[in-house]
Amino acid sequence: MERRVKSVIVQKYGGTSVEAVSNIKGIARKVALEKAGGLDLVIVVSAMGDTTDELMKLADHITTRHHKRDLDMLLSTGEQVTVALLCMALREEGVTATGLTGWQAGISTTTDHGGASILSIDPERIQRELKMGNVVVVAGFQGITGKGDISTLGRGGSDTTAAALATRLGAERCEIYTDVEGVYTSDPRYVKKAVRISSLTYEEMILMARRGAGVLHPKAIEHAMTHNVPLVVRSSMSRVGGTWIHGAPGREVSHPVYGIVFDKGRFCYTLSGVPNRMEMKVIISSHLNSLDIEYDTLMEDREDTLSFLVAEADQELADPIFDSVGAIVRRERKATVTVVVRDENTYHVTLDTVRKILQEKGQAFHIIEDCTNHVTAVVEESHAIALTSLLHSAFGLDEVQTSEAAGVF
Ligand code: ADP
Ligand code: ASP
Ligand code: MG
Repeated sequence: MERRVKSVIVQKYGGTSVEAVSNIKGIARKVALEKAGGLDLVIVVSAMGDTTDELMKLADHITTRHHKRDLDMLLSTGEQVTVALLCMALREEGVTATGLTGWQAGISTTTDHGGASILSIDPERIQRELKMGNVVVVAGFQGITGKGDISTLGRGGSDTTAAALATRLGAERCEIYTDVEGVYTSDPRYVKKAVRISSLTYEEMILMARRGAGVLHPKAIEHAMTHNVPLVVRSSMSRVGGTWIHGAPGREVSHPVYGIVFDKGRFCYTLSGVPNRMEMKVIISSHLNSLDIEYDTLMEDREDTLSFLVAEADQELADPIFDSVGAIVRRERKATVTVVVRDENTYHVTLDTVRKILQEKGQAFHIIEDCTNHVTAVVEESHAIALTSLLHSAFGLDEVQTSEAAGVF
């Protein structure tokens, strides 16, 4: 029998939360309870555990020169396994569930295989299933191109599927279930004194995610922000904690620095002996922009030096640009460590403090240009985690109490 769709909740369960069949059965029990409580639920799932990495390894056994369309065909299977298993587990709990691939869920994307963006979502099928009282389980990380080919959204892309669906369906909120209790001041896997942040604005979270906080994909936050859909990050193992990401969290007190994040996947091109720095900067920037490659430039001590920092994943695409500029180019893997500040007025003080601390450590570093709400230092990859912990202490984040975090953050 058809019934009116109430307010929808979209939930996403990441790879670690669906690692084993026992986890999937646990999620089915939880979803069954929530469904019985009267919620309309759309569940987005990732591939189980390390499945995506394992599939990549399989492909590498054949060739490392991947045909991107073939790779998407392969990688998209990981999520479909989880969809099928969760639907079976839900049925065992007495819940009728319909599993959908990306294309069945109406998710249309650009044609950039391996890093596609969602262009539009036709919600008709999902809405029909919800009206029939079914829980809808959607494969994350995938969609369909205009040509009818399977595409994937880039690593961590199931977050984007969930947020985009929540936005399109006008969901009340989008819940991201993962293996930590929320978003922390730093990656809790490496910085033991990291503190959970109870509430962040979309802009604050986008910044943290872009600078390396892998707990949430930046594109997911951008989707949620377009229609002001609140995101909540919480643990699939425990009921405590959680971080709300929304338009304007009411904060009583504000700590000037709210996160120290690192990103080990950067690649730096340094051009030396450049006669006209500004002209060269314009030429290279326009090439990078035309290929949609995001980049940063660095503050330099020397007039004839120019450095560009890109994501390691874009190196293959960027290499020919630097091959063609006729300058001496040094190429190095690097990492960034970023101090995110709440108030732009504290930028200069923060910059001075970061410089002083890194100099005292005898650390060779560069600072990224043109930032106002964060200070990013480019450092040796092997030092990134130690420096993140050091800055976490130096900026007083080790001392923030968890109870205080609710008020301070
Ligand atoms: P999932 O499989 O659920 O998508 P991810 O591995 O993509 O999980 O994201 C969760 C991981 O993100 C955590 O285990 C944690 O190590 C890492 N992480 C990085 N930065 C942060 C941060 N600032 N706060 C919380 N977790 C973070
Ligand atoms: N399975 C994909 C990955 O491992 C997508 C995701 O989990 O969000 O990156
Ligand atoms: Mg993830």
